[in-house]
Formats: sequence, C-alpha cells, structure tokens
Amino acid sequence: MIAPKGKISKARTGHRRSQWKLKPLNLSVCPQCHVLKLPHRVCAECGYYNGKPVIEIKEKKSAGK
Ligand SMILES: [Zn+2]
Repeated sequence: MIAPKGKISKARTGHRRSQWKLKPLNLSVCPQCHVLKLPHRVCAECGYYNGKPVIEIKEKKSAGK
C-alpha cells in the first residue's frame, strides 16, 4: 500500500493555500458598443462577436425579476 512519506504540516498547507487567490478579471472593450466584456466571448450588450451579430439580445435589461 502506498502512503505519504511524511506529515504535511499546517504551515506547509498554509503556504500552499496562500497562493490560492482570485486574479482580477481581464476585461476587453467591445468594438461594437464600447462596453467592457470578457475577451473571446460574445458581448452581452449587443450580441456581436468578431464584427457580426451572433445572438439576439432581448430588450429587458436590469428590469429585475
Ligand atoms: Zn457590444
């Protein structure tokens, strides 16, 4: 049976987990409507990707459910 060679100390676990953090969002500007969007994703504002309309946007923004 295979077992870990030694105990992993709390400090070692803590050092490893100290690297576990969120990076700031990398946003790009939509060339169509100039709003911030995620790169390589269809713009949620105008539905354009690569200069073409890809999805239809329903005109019901921030209305709340
Ligand atoms: Zn857009």
